[in-house]
Parts: sequence; C-alpha cells; structure tokens
Amino acid sequence: MTTYSYSRLNAFKSCPFAYKLSYLDRVPAPDRVELFTGKKVHETLEKLYSDLLQGKNNSLEELLAFHERQWNAGWNNSIVVQEGAKAEDFRSHGENCVKNYYSSHAPFNHAQTVGVERKVFTKLGRHSFVGVVDRIASVEGKKEVHDYKTASSLPSEDYFREDTQLPLYQLALQRQFGWQEVELVWDFVALDKEVRVKKSPASLEKAERDTVSLIEAVEETVAEGDFEKNEGSQCRRCVYAKHCGK
Ligand code: SF4
Repeated sequence: MTTYSYSRLNAFKSCPFAYKLSYLDRVPAPDRVELFTGKKVHETLEKLYSDLLQGKNNSLEELLAFHERQWNAGWNNSIVVQEGAKAEDFRSHGENCVKNYYSSHAPFNHAQTVGVERKVFTKLGRHSFVGVVDRIASVEGKKEVHDYKTASSLPSEDYFREDTQLPLYQLALQRQFGWQEVELVWDFVALDKEVRVKKSPASLEKAERDTVSLIEAVEETVAEGDFEKNEGSQCRRCVYAKHCGK
C-alpha cells in the first residue's frame, strides 16, 4: 500500500504526467537550484537546533561555514539553473536566509525545541500519510509546528487558509500525543517574517477530507493509467519537460 506525503500529492496536483514519471516510473531527474538552496538552508537550521538540544550554541559564523560546506559538498553541474540566473546568487540567498533567521531568533530561548526534522505518520481514512516536521517547539504548554520557507515572496492569504501540509502534520501529532493547543508557524526566512495560524477542528477535518479525496483521485488515475499532461506555468520549471515533448 502506498504511503502518501504532502510533496507526493502536490506533485500529482501540479501535473499527473510528471507525477507518473517521478513516483511510478522513477525516472531520474536533476535537482533544481531552488530546491537545492532550500535543502541547504533546512540542513543548516536543523544543525542549529540539533546542536542546541545537545547544549551547543553555534555562532552565526559557524553556521555560515556549515552552510558553505554543505553547499560545496552537494553541488554538482547537473543541478538546473534557469537561463539568465546564477548559482552564486542562490548561494547568497541561502546565506541571507541563515543570517536573517539567526539575527531574529538568537539566543533561541523563546521556546523549547522538542523535535527537529521529526517524522510523523497518520491514517487518513484507510490511507497512510507521512511527513517530516522541520521543528516542533513548546511554549508554556502550547506546541508550535514550524515549517521553514525560503521563498522570496509571501503566498496569498488563501494559501494559509487552504494549504494542507501543516494541518496534516498537526493532525498526526495530535493523534500521537494528544496535544490540545497547537499553533502552525511558517518561518519565511528570506523575508524575516513568520506567519502564525491556529486551525479550528473544522478546518483540520476539511484538510483531512480534501486529502482523502485527492488520494482517491490519484488511485483512480493510477488504476486507469491515464495521466494527463497539465500544461501551464509549472512547465517552465519542470525537470521532466524533455520527457513529455516540451
Ligand atoms: S512539462 Fe508540463 S505537462 Fe510536461 S510533465 Fe512537466 S509539468 Fe507536466
């Protein structure tokens, strides 16, 4: 039985044909530089909080040196950089994300970290769902579910109302630990801005319902073998463009 993740389901929503190539046919594809940049920032913030849990408080310089090492170790020339853009600018963007986050949050004692890159599971109807929470924190009994975003602009308000990623993580954690009070926190580290939302039980139920419907659409498509090519703005950044004749 397939275990679904938010990114897997999002890939299907974006383009069923690209989903088939990636998740069913396992056609290898290079990373895009945007994704690579996000991973390196996540690894650096993971180190920050994992080390704090062990009693080590890294300086900003130590974190930037770590970010640079991770970038250099992971970089390869197959990573896709859009024409006209420079990889170096993305590296600087990642560094700025780390600098912004550090200067806004040091000395990191606003909340107690209780989990870093924490894997969560839950059942959604008869389906299995898995996710990874960037950071879980606790403030006076209230739990915070954090997600780092490296985008250069804020999404619309609809995104915070409709997106299912953090609500599903909240559901998984509440079912596992019985937490009563949970706040969802999107850390837009490039913009030095955070967005906090408390979801009502009704909106959590809706996130679950919508996700179950989406999973059923995926399974129906797989059974029928009819994967639509969803042409749109996403094609410009699609790593499978060559495979579908774009
Ligand atoms: S190029 Fe567009 S239509 Fe083709 S697989 Fe990618 S997203 Fe889908």
